[in-house]
Amino acid sequence: MNLQDYIKIVPDWPKPGVQFKDITPLMDNGDAFRYATDQIVEYARKKEIDLVVGPEARGFIVGCPVAYSLGVGFAPVRKEGKLPRETIKVEYGLEYGKDVLTIHKDAVKPGQRVLITDDLLATGGTIDATIKLVEQLGGVVAGVAFLIELHYLNGRANLDGYDILTLLTYD
Ligand code: AMP
Repeated sequence: MNLQDYIKIVPDWPKPGVQFKDITPLMDNGDAFRYATDQIVEYARKKEIDLVVGPEARGFIVGCPVAYSLGVGFAPVRKEGKLPRETIKVEYGLEYGKDVLTIHKDAVKPGQRVLITDDLLATGGTIDATIKLVEQLGGVVAGVAFLIELHYLNGRANLDGYDILTLLTYD
């Protein structure tokens, strides 16, 4: 199966110059969604994962079926003010300004082997912040899995030293 057939490229969205990679056609197709999920599950099985962690919102879509299939839990990483109990937070740089990601303080147990998931690796800033949250709680980032990598933004350089799986690459 060629997953690229299920990604729609939307020019100049949400702003001029961005080639938005829309994954909703992939999610909308049962065979394609299962195929993509199975690839990540196969990767994760070799890494003895205890927990899947993903940032809102598309990290949930990618990560939850993987967690279900592995028989492990899923912990959400969210923007500030969205999680109801005690959290820790990390600030990260955006193109303009800053943003904050949070995770519940008890979401990751020390020593747990964590798989981090998201839909797309662009600059790597979101996942770098997610990694910091997991590691602050004592988790071990055993792998990071994405559907898509935008190779020209060189996000891998931001995630140096971590094991990364991407199912599709755009040059
Ligand atoms: P980054 O932190 O730069 O790696 O950005 C990653 C996040 O932004 C991912 O969660 C994506 O959902 C989103 N994103 C960035 N660029 C694109 C793009 N060209 N198409 C779709 N989503 C994108």
